[in-house]
Amino acid sequence: MEKAQQLYEGKAKKVYATTDPDYCIVAYKDDATAFNGAKKGTIEGKGAINNCVTNHLMRLLEQRGIPTHFVEQLSDRETVVRRVTIVPLEVIVRNIAAGSLAKRLGLEEGYKMSRTVLEFCYKDDALDDPMVNDYHIFAMGFATPEELKQISDYALRINDILSEYLRDLNIELIDFKLEFGKTADGRLVLADEISPDTCRFWDSTTGMKLDKDRFRRDLGGVEDAYQEIMKRLLGR
Ligand code: UDP
Repeated sequence: MEKAQQLYEGKAKKVYATTDPDYCIVAYKDDATAFNGAKKGTIEGKGAINNCVTNHLMRLLEQRGIPTHFVEQLSDRETVVRRVTIVPLEVIVRNIAAGSLAKRLGLEEGYKMSRTVLEFCYKDDALDDPMVNDYHIFAMGFATPEELKQISDYALRINDILSEYLRDLNIELIDFKLEFGKTADGRLVLADEISPDTCRFWDSTTGMKLDKDRFRRDLGGVEDAYQEIMKRLLGR
């Protein structure tokens, strides 16, 4: 299988076709954006870290019975994934109130909610990824009721697996975003990435933020935080 034409360039990744129509290659970049592209920058080494961290967690999830698009890591920054049609929803899982939820409901960041919260946003940059509920999702055909049920079940299982795994590494999984895709043969699989770009990771002891909020909020130590996550998860 060889890399063919570029299909897409996003904010943090490029996607290439391959000589096999069932597979793509994703290439992770060091580019960072926040607030829907309004803030731009570079996080040195981020592409390689997010590639390795994502693949590490996708392997863990596969072992625990969650189907993913992951196939094989090619290099530092590049990975072969199954080609999918992305379901146009960002699935957000929240254990502790932070970010936009804390703001919307007037909660202090770090507020421990009595149960996990699932949110769905319609993936559309021009509209700033508006939040939608199941009525919108079915009315607009973003997903069928069966697909949404499957997506929600997977998202909650993924939360249990990752929360437990990270807690052993002294990391609290505050919230994260998932994307799902459908393969040509109609299987729903976890796609996109799971990295400090898409999760909030707080050190369990100190509460120190070890994720993209350091970039979003100009907290400094951005590269160090990404490296710390890499070290705790992959030991290097
Ligand atoms: N998130 C993401 N991409 C987005 C929006 C959110 O990966 O386009 C992640 C974000 O990193 C956090 C979680 O989803 O871990 C919840 O984000 P929130 O809605 O609080 O928005 P934010 O404060 O990140 O703008």
